[in-house]
Amino acid sequence: MAIKKKSINMELVTCEVCLKEVPKSSAIASETTDYVAYFCGLNCYEKWKNQSVKTNDQSKKSPS
Ligand SMILES: [Zn+2]
Repeated sequence: MAIKKKSINMELVTCEVCLKEVPKSSAIASETTDYVAYFCGLNCYEKWKNQSVKTNDQSKKSPS
C-alpha cells in the first residue's frame, strides 16, 4: 500500500460546493470566521455565498 505522491509544490484545495480539487493558487478563497473556504470558480463561490446567506445563525451560542 505504498502510494507515492508526486512532490508537487502546488497545494490542492477542495471546492466547497462541487468538491473538485483545484490548485490553491487558482482557487478563490473566502475567509469566514471559522475557516477559509475555497472554490474552483466564481460560479461555485456565488452558490456558496447564496447558501450561507440563507442560514441564520441566530441560535449560535458559545457554551462556556
Ligand atoms: Zn466548484
